[in-house]
Amino acid sequence: MSHAAILLPRAVNKPFDYRIPEGMQVTEGSYVQVPVGKTTEWGVVWQLLAMSDVPPEKIKPIQNLSTLPPMPALTRQFIEWVANYTLSPLGNVLTMAMRVPTIFEKDRVYAPKNLITKEMPVTLSDEQTQAADILRAAVDAKKYAAFLLDGITGSGKTEVYLEAIKAGLKQGLQVLVLVPEIVLTQPLIQRLEERLQLPATSWHSNLTPKQRAERWQAIAKGEARLIVGARSALFLPFPKLGLIIVDEEHEHSFKQEEGVLYHGRDMAVVRAHLEQLPIILVSATPSLETETNCQSGKYTRLLLKARHGGATLPPIETIDMRQHRMPAKQFVSPHLIKAIAETIEKREQVLLFLNRRGYAPLTLCRTCGHRLKCPNCSAWIVEHRALGKLQCHHCGYQSRSPKNCPECKAEDSLHAVGPGVERLQEEIVEHFPNARVALFTSDHIATPKQAEKLLSEIDAGKIDIIIGTQMVAKGHHFPNLTLVGVIDADLGLEGGDLRASEKSFQMMTQVSGRAGRAEKKGKVLLQTYNPDHPVMKALIAGDRENFLKREAEYRRAAAVPPFGRFAAIIFSGRNESEVKQAATQLRNAAPKQAGTQVLGPAPAPMTQLKGKYRYRLLVKSLKNSNLQQYLRQWLALAPPPSAIQMKVDIDPYSFM
Ligand SMILES: [Zn+2]
Ligand SMILES: [Zn+2]
Repeated sequence: MSHAAILLPRAVNKPFDYRIPEGMQVTEGSYVQVPVGKTTEWGVVWQLLAMSDVPPEKIKPIQNLSTLPPMPALTRQFIEWVANYTLSPLGNVLTMAMRVPTIFEKDRVYAPKNLITKEMPVTLSDEQTQAADILRAAVDAKKYAAFLLDGITGSGKTEVYLEAIKAGLKQGLQVLVLVPEIVLTQPLIQRLEERLQLPATSWHSNLTPKQRAERWQAIAKGEARLIVGARSALFLPFPKLGLIIVDEEHEHSFKQEEGVLYHGRDMAVVRAHLEQLPIILVSATPSLETETNCQSGKYTRLLLKARHGGATLPPIETIDMRQHRMPAKQFVSPHLIKAIAETIEKREQVLLFLNRRGYAPLTLCRTCGHRLKCPNCSAWIVEHRALGKLQCHHCGYQSRSPKNCPECKAEDSLHAVGPGVERLQEEIVEHFPNARVALFTSDHIATPKQAEKLLSEIDAGKIDIIIGTQMVAKGHHFPNLTLVGVIDADLGLEGGDLRASEKSFQMMTQVSGRAGRAEKKGKVLLQTYNPDHPVMKALIAGDRENFLKREAEYRRAAAVPPFGRFAAIIFSGRNESEVKQAATQLRNAAPKQAGTQVLGPAPAPMTQLKGKYRYRLLVKSLKNSNLQQYLRQWLALAPPPSAIQMKVDIDPYSFM
């Protein structure tokens, strides 16, 4: 073979031909450095060629061959699969697998820190043992199989999948654990390390370039065996992957909303299938997608019914806010205040949940009615009083909180509307001046270190009341926490999101699961104006099955996911009428196909984002249709003008 087609990690759809210099031993998958224009770049040998159509005087030679092991064929297949499925440039998907600065400059030694070796004896229940046996056998069989490890919070799911990890490691294989939120993963990593007596390699966006390069090499060489990472870890070039685990599979943060738009959980199942290995999805509140796959027999459900150590799920009650005439600046009902007082009296801990960062979601001028809005987005700008700043949660725009109204210049006329966590804290401190209160949000906890510090303070009983956003809902064990109060249980039900009810149910179940996880009994109080909403009723009854059944019936009737397919085509640009026109033009070129419907163009709920106007076409098709093929043919018919960006989102989640 005298030539090679090299794929580069950039926005290209196909590899380019290069000449192999005499004596250079390249194989398919080799990492090579090639000239590109006036510079050079590292890419991957996608295919060896006996000859090239490029005229010999124009073809350039490969300059360098890396000594690192070639990218495995199965990793390359996976990259192609994802590019095809998401309609993304092949090179952009490759980028996710290898765009790590300096990995090819020198061989690095990865020396994980020393382990604290203390084996903690753990006895599994009968239920756990049965599930673990099945998973171990699946790992040993080295074939594709998909499982849902389904158990309420505190049922000991981690101990069960630990047994499967052990089996994989024993065989000398690599094991990948995908987690939705890396900042809070340190306790899990520590637990895995202690129990497995093996250092875990974490992979996420907070790594330094040096850490990133060391870890990437160790993974590519097969030296790093246990990898715990965010969704991006799925694209690493594992040479001997033997098991994938997706913890909290229902979490929406597995969906990547920028660059290549993909769902980490779904693509993990694809990779497991391509590589013929088992995958374990883990959740206390499975997504309807996964639930449906269990019911149709595609996935095997392993159910853990009992809460570990005999603890029970806390009872959930609603507080009907229609009965309380709350003063305008108060958000905690007398009933909840009383429950908080009783709990801290007993020296137990309280969690107040409000999924709203900052002081108030909206700031309004009482003189002229002006609302403070982000200059780049169709969104209110959120006051962060502690920082003295206004912040847009969509584009990151910041400004100082103004003293006067920017519109009518009236003094002291700006007025906060609605509660954010900071305002809730103010109210709580007024009621309980002696209580120790901590905020648990992404504004206060940005790094694993900060998370560790706060968690250990809570553990040590140094905090009485935790006020948190969705960040606090995820998998933490607070043994002394016995009261959970949800300030606005209706919040997630607003908006036209297809999965709004499902998401709300999951979030509230997860938050509720923080209470009473040890011997002490817990209690959950939901403040709501809709106590009769199906989500509230299902939560009170603790009836997940019935809730999912209803939700499935509704979506089946509407032929929407997971019983139908969606793709969104999003147009964006600085000139609104041009954006709308490009969307309309494509809409008019849509080929007719039975069972496929094109809806729109409609302005996105946030018409303007980061200074760009956005319009959306929504394509709805039957579950078994080849949506990608339809889209490929159609999109080729009316390419948008260069000033307009067009993005395809297969299986869209967020319709912001
Ligand atoms: Zn004003
Ligand atoms: Zn903004």
